[in-house]
Amino acid sequence: MGAVARRAGRFGVDGVGAVGWANQPFCGRVEDMSAGILSRPLFESDAAVAAALRAEIDRQQSTLELIASENHTSLAVRQASGSVFAHKYAEGYPGKRYYGGCVNMDTVESLAIERALKLFPGAAHANVQPHSGAQANTAVYLVVLQPGDTVLSLDLAHGGHLTHGMKLNFSGATYKIVHYGVDRQTERCDMAAIRRLAQECKPKLIICGASAYPRTIDFAAFGEIARECGARLMADIAHIAGMVAVGLHPSPLPHADFVTTTTHKTLRGPRGGLILCGEADAKLVDRWVFPGTQGGPHMHTIAAKAVAFGEALRPEFRSYQQQTLDNAQALAAALQQRGYRLVSGGTDNHLMLVDLRSNHPNVTGKDAEGWLEQAGIIVNKNMIPFDERKPVHTSGLRIGTPALTSRGMKALEMTRVAELIHEVIGSGGDAGTIERVRARVRELCARFVIPD
Ligand SMILES: *Cc1c(COP(=O)(O)O)cnc(C)c1O
Repeated sequence: MGAVARRAGRFGVDGVGAVGWANQPFCGRVEDMSAGILSRPLFESDAAVAAALRAEIDRQQSTLELIASENHTSLAVRQASGSVFAHKYAEGYPGKRYYGGCVNMDTVESLAIERALKLFPGAAHANVQPHSGAQANTAVYLVVLQPGDTVLSLDLAHGGHLTHGMKLNFSGATYKIVHYGVDRQTERCDMAAIRRLAQECKPKLIICGASAYPRTIDFAAFGEIARECGARLMADIAHIAGMVAVGLHPSPLPHADFVTTTTHKTLRGPRGGLILCGEADAKLVDRWVFPGTQGGPHMHTIAAKAVAFGEALRPEFRSYQQQTLDNAQALAAALQQRGYRLVSGGTDNHLMLVDLRSNHPNVTGKDAEGWLEQAGIIVNKNMIPFDERKPVHTSGLRIGTPALTSRGMKALEMTRVAELIHEVIGSGGDAGTIERVRARVRELCARFVIPD
């Protein structure tokens, strides 16, 4: 059993209030404190939240996180995002605030902007205030579109994102959405088909970028298509931003008019969003973020973005992204060897879509997700292109390597992970098998403690 699991055993939820901080065996242990695992003030002030936090730390340490959009941040990022920067109202932008006392806010926001522009050369302007990826996209829509205008974007069921025009989302409720999908044969974006569709529907905005697309996105071709039909182009690189930043995925700049991203996926920063654009759109982008759609910026998050962008500018970050890609290759190959078909035949990035119908036709994505979770392997069910099953069941799983790579795992461990996944799915959810795999998952996790 790993150190973390042992600690969990000593520190049950019920025991928190009854025993008290001072009697906890981990009290004062440098590694507990330095990891921000559980600080004395939190424990003393709120045992219930402290217990939930402890349980979550133990869950993260003792399970394999394969959700493609998740990652583990550095302690530096978490320190900034848990800091007194959160106390400050700083409506406005550096040098132009609506509140006094913003001198240090200006410093961190300027640092975040400067570093974002260094990470993504070719952009003239960066807005680091969007609270999340969804808010970044919303601001761009309001810059470009009027209600009822036509937007061309990737179908959610083929890997798109809900903010790209799903019926129940603000985007789908406000604009006329036309979707392109992937080609039935290649399961990749067919640029000729997208060009025809764009010329037909004459969109005002084309969106490229995805949440579940394992292949390289041809931003240059999207740029050409947008110019041909007089549309603006938004590249939403929420998933692949880390790889773009280090040059391991082609950059959407200068092809896209707007680039939006989250900062918490492969970019490994705090939860948040970022917009990049050219000089001509800068004013409107800023205005539609604040006061257009948001109030006071989350300065603690902006400080953490500055820290994360600083980390991303270091050589180690390039190695990390390369290892994430190498791990995705290793995991994909190991799954394919065990008979799993991958959508589009493999992956170019950090994620893959497993088509369960290939070797387990009776197992749904929902079944597999549930069994794997019991075994400590965390994935999400996902539609595969042209899926005959409903979104609540699905025929696929989305699997990504960013988080396991952050805890130091390499190709050898990916082979092991594929074996464990196969054992669970192959057993049809057999309780004994799940229990055996759970123990092996704990062993593997204990050898790769999530770093500060
Ligand atoms: C994750 C994601 C978003 C949304 O980010 P949130 O921070 O969850 O709002 C937007 N677009 C794409 C393509 C994403 O994958």
